[in-house]
Amino acid sequence: MAFSNKKIIAGNWKMNGLKQDSWQLTNDLLNKFESPDDNFGFQMIICPPATLLSEITSMVEGSPIATGAQNCSDRLNGAYTGEISPIMVKDVGAKFVILGHSERRAYYGETNEIVALKAQSALDQGLTPIICIGETLEQKEVGSALAVIEDQFMNSVPVNATVDNIIIAYEPVWAIGTGKVATLQDIIDIHSKIREVAEKKLGSKNITILYGGSVKPTNAKEVFSTDEVNGVLVGGASLNADDFWNIAMASI
Ligand code: PEP
Repeated sequence: MAFSNKKIIAGNWKMNGLKQDSWQLTNDLLNKFESPDDNFGFQMIICPPATLLSEITSMVEGSPIATGAQNCSDRLNGAYTGEISPIMVKDVGAKFVILGHSERRAYYGETNEIVALKAQSALDQGLTPIICIGETLEQKEVGSALAVIEDQFMNSVPVNATVDNIIIAYEPVWAIGTGKVATLQDIIDIHSKIREVAEKKLGSKNITILYGGSVKPTNAKEVFSTDEVNGVLVGGASLNADDFWNIAMASI
């Protein structure tokens, strides 16, 4: 396994969270860990909105929880109003950055090429990009899911990537926030396709792949029941400390 044998439990808070409730959520999660030295067999990552990244990162410092941004620019600094550079993400102590989430692809025009530039820039700063790929319902229905996944992987993963410095999140677009989870067989098929493409592009199948799409405490055990899944990227359920914790517990 690229990072460790620990399952990765990543929470994408999306555009949710004001100061008060985000502190509460973070404290509730921290309280779940009995001591900072506990080895729970999973790596928890939370990705708050940019306004709270610095503060939440300071709150979890020294704990088993790491933080990530939900996006970053491919540029390092300068006249790019509204953008957040990977240097800034690194500066506040975050270690990860979600890139190419389907919401960014759909609403903000992010192409594979843009995602690859951002991922390269994040890698150059020592951040670990969590690169999201996944087919839409239409693509699934016409039987092109595997081809879409291959194309997204080949073109969103930057040239300097290795299986050890990036994470892939397989997130079928039709499963995000819809309550519909991919079947275990779909997850196995697509994850093994991703490994095949990783071998083609990066020379090894041994890449960390997260599944994302309506993961809840009720279905997490099944999602983790295959070795193909190295972790999960959780949206809605990561906003509730008990739910997120129970998903993490289902991984061990
Ligand atoms: C996501 O946004 O990455 C996600 C997987 O959302 P949800 O868990 O709400 O489907």
